[in-house]
Amino acid sequence: MIEIKDIRAGDAVFARNERKDPWRDGFDGPCLVCGAPVKEGSGVRVHLHMGGSTIVTQDEASAWEAQCAADPARTCDSGDLGGYPIGPACYQKHRALLQPYVDDFQRAGA
Ligand SMILES: [Zn+2]
Repeated sequence: MIEIKDIRAGDAVFARNERKDPWRDGFDGPCLVCGAPVKEGSGVRVHLHMGGSTIVTQDEASAWEAQCAADPARTCDSGDLGGYPIGPACYQKHRALLQPYVDDFQRAGA
């Protein structure tokens, strides 16, 4: 798994990019790394979990779900947010780290 904080751009960059209305028509939302709007079809998607703090493989997501399901107190929340975009420039920058997660998410057909 990858913790978002390990690849995320600085708060100032993120805040500035988020003001560019990443949810407008034709865009997939903010890039996980830098907050810039990701144009539909231009970036990659990864599986975001634990309330958005962590990128996981499908196996890691399943293991976490199972662990939560087994929690007798039912206080466990796996925080599955599903697929989330990363823009092409940020993907290239962190490709070595992100590639297995992108491939795994695409294989799962999610
Ligand atoms: Zn980005």
